[in-house]
Amino acid sequence: MANDLDDDGYNDSNRAFLQAFMARSTMTFEEARPVLAAIFSVSEGNEVSPEDVSEDDLSSYIAAANTAISPFDMEIRSTLRQSLPDPDASTNFVPERVYALINTTSDALTQLATTYSADEIAFVKRVLDAMFEMNNTRRSEEMVVSAIQATQLARVSAGDGGHHESGSATQQTQGGGAKQSLSMSQAETVMKQLVEDGWLEKSRKGYFSLSPRGLMELRGWLVATYNDENDDGRRVNKIKFCAACRDIITSGQRCGNRDCQGRLHDHCIRNFFRVQQAENCPFCKEEWPGDKYVGERAITTTDRHQQGKRRSTNTQRSSGVGASSQLPSQVDGENEDDNEDENENDDENEDSD
Ligand SMILES: [Zn+2]
Ligand SMILES: [Zn+2]
Repeated sequence: MANDLDDDGYNDSNRAFLQAFMARSTMTFEEARPVLAAIFSVSEGNEVSPEDVSEDDLSSYIAAANTAISPFDMEIRSTLRQSLPDPDASTNFVPERVYALINTTSDALTQLATTYSADEIAFVKRVLDAMFEMNNTRRSEEMVVSAIQATQLARVSAGDGGHHESGSATQQTQGGGAKQSLSMSQAETVMKQLVEDGWLEKSRKGYFSLSPRGLMELRGWLVATYNDENDDGRRVNKIKFCAACRDIITSGQRCGNRDCQGRLHDHCIRNFFRVQQAENCPFCKEEWPGDKYVGERAITTTDRHQQGKRRSTNTQRSSGVGASSQLPSQVDGENEDDNEDENENDDENEDSD
């Protein structure tokens, strides 16, 4: 697109684009098209439609914006959105490039201080600890938090301070002053706000995860906080990277060997294996299983989750009248009393870590 440039190459169109970007904090190409079309329409004096805006137009405007904002330690960066949590959707999933305005120097969490109180930021850190420590174990790399768990984190736990591993910044950063618990409704409001502000995303199944913007903003902080050396000098990497694109991975697939670092984004797998000409783990070279997940699917694709579902259905039904008489399929040839025992066993099966 033609543009009348100022002497320094930066003009009102560039300024308008940057302002529009700052108002949103993240943008995709599809979202940028109507914005740039409106700007072009004004600068060129005739109607430009969004379809006429190319990716090159967006790239050149982002490059110009980055030159303008770099003195302020800001940068527009981009990342590909990771797979959708819904496994049915991942086959035809075309990854979307997300652009976000990133603060390049400061501790990303300090940015929250302009919007959130110290107690709210302490809550956000508890949520992040839950995501990347509690819900991110060798056995199950979920890296999500359920809405219920988030509200439970509203309360500062009595033991807070002792159980965290060395990297956790929960207590260290906010310098002095014990943090107060939030009410559950305050916690819900903060979670909602974090989604609206583009830090978190909430899946259809109700799990919160870091958004593309959140991941870009927090990348350095996450690695500094959750990747540590253990007491025995062994590195414990809670934050892992895709072997293909080297970006952080919080949703994708993992190697069948739990001790292997092999992780791949869904959108990186096909190309990666095509280039490799074999579907083997990039690290240990074992055959890639294709059904081992990190992220929300680490929960939702397990037997335990399915059994949990069945169990809650049972519970609902049995809260009515005579449970056993309503569930003939469950008692099939067995003593009716076996129902409860079976369910309890299911729940414990995989819990040892
Ligand atoms: Zn990748
Ligand atoms: Zn491997």
